[in-house]
Amino acid sequence: MAELANCTRCDVVFVKHTRDICHDCQKSEEDAYQTVYQFLTIRKNREATIPEIVEATGVEEKLLIKFLKEKRLQPSQFPKLSYPCEKCDTPIVSGKLCYKCTEELREDLERYEVSEKRKKEQEKRRHTYYVMRDQEKS
Ligand SMILES: [Zn+2]
Ligand SMILES: [Zn+2]
Repeated sequence: MAELANCTRCDVVFVKHTRDICHDCQKSEEDAYQTVYQFLTIRKNREATIPEIVEATGVEEKLLIKFLKEKRLQPSQFPKLSYPCEKCDTPIVSGKLCYKCTEELREDLERYEVSEKRKKEQEKRRHTYYVMRDQEKS
């Protein structure tokens, strides 16, 4: 069964396949990608930054980041292609967060796990204590 959806770009109703945008938008994204790619393959443009590409090609920054996230534009090929970390604005080339924020997130999670474990152990100890007192009474 074909599923109908609203295009996330232009809101037109279309038959959804694997993408969340309609055929027209897909085509215009493809054109944009070609424009950017053509621009970047020119030797002197290889080290262009995202704002420079936006300036030169007229392609939206949002779209460029999308291409990067989809790995259609490879940072290994074009070293200056970076976009800001969602937490601290440090330039990154993959994922959503920079290395530092990823580490911080991981540490937070670990700290949380440790504190949960400690809480459980305390409860267990308290329980044991009551059991011992009960035994003393009898
Ligand atoms: Zn559309
Ligand atoms: Zn960050």
